[in-house]
Amino acid sequence: MSDATPTILLLGATGQVGHELRRTLAPLGTVQAPGRDEVDLAAADTLRRAVVETEPALIVNAAAYTDVDGAEGELERAAQLNAEAPRVLAEAARETEAWLVHYSTDYVFDGEKRTPYTEEDAPNPINVYGRTKREGEQALQEIGGRSVILRSSWVYSDRRSNFVRTMLQLADERDHLTVVDDQIGVPTWAGWLAEATATIGEQLLTGDDSSSLRGLYHLTGTGQTSWYGFAQAIFAQFGRTDVSVEPVPSTEYPSSAPRPSYSALDSTRARTTFDLTLPTWTAQLARFRERAPQAEPESTPSG
Ligand code: NDP
Repeated sequence: MSDATPTILLLGATGQVGHELRRTLAPLGTVQAPGRDEVDLAAADTLRRAVVETEPALIVNAAAYTDVDGAEGELERAAQLNAEAPRVLAEAARETEAWLVHYSTDYVFDGEKRTPYTEEDAPNPINVYGRTKREGEQALQEIGGRSVILRSSWVYSDRRSNFVRTMLQLADERDHLTVVDDQIGVPTWAGWLAEATATIGEQLLTGDDSSSLRGLYHLTGTGQTSWYGFAQAIFAQFGRTDVSVEPVPSTEYPSSAPRPSYSALDSTRARTTFDLTLPTWTAQLARFRERAPQAEPESTPSG
């Protein structure tokens, strides 16, 4: 890396992860974070131009179509944002020799395993969102260049719609809740994901042999739980002992998009490659609680 302060192009800065990335990427360089009105993922020309004109050393793409159920009825739109846009970004990144960090999801897996998925496991998405995200991964892999794909899962924050905010809202309305217990995964606090991304980004920008770091990584904390277990932990963490939670099967909550019944990720590769500390998902929830004592809910769930 040269002595000049690197420019970092951050897309999706208004989202859960993107908002946290504004904070964590700032020490690494000058962060430019155009909103959707300036750089629309669906407008390939504008997207490409943003990269060429900004000349970033690092692009972090936290923008995506994340409405898992909505994607079932909006295949084209989801594919445009989750598969086509990453392709355009990867081409522009290769052309300008920028690093590209891109997020993907545990929903690329079908959920048939019962031990955490590694990067060696074959994806087999069972919903439109997962399929389009997988196509985005494949686009980056085909194009080559200096790119890193970070697959995470069950992301929550104090912004937008997510499971933690939904549970806390429901706790204000009811004293008894039913929550599905036959889907297992790893809840991930967006703040930790953004911190880990910055640790990775720093090594991409400064490493002597950083090209060897390109590739696919799982990036979650350790442990696993069901949505029911997650709900229990949320209420314990937020001192909501007034709410009781009952486990129910997914069939009690029919949704447009099928979800994998098991999608815990094994993040050993990221931990060893980038010398990361992987906190348990419960430790992440505790840190979130410290940082965001009031999590107010809003709109529809994302994935
Ligand atoms: P959010 O839904 O919170 O944010 C999405 C971001 O994308 C917003 O900034 C949004 O901007 C932006 N965006 C959407 N459409 C466009 C568009 N056409 N042009 C420009 N920007 C657009 O996402 P998360 O932070 O939750 O997710 C970040 C990444 O992590 C995504 O790649 C997602 O697939 C992945 N992921 C998420 C998981 C989750 O549980 N949420 C789980 C696993 C992976 P605007 O504010 O204008 O809408």
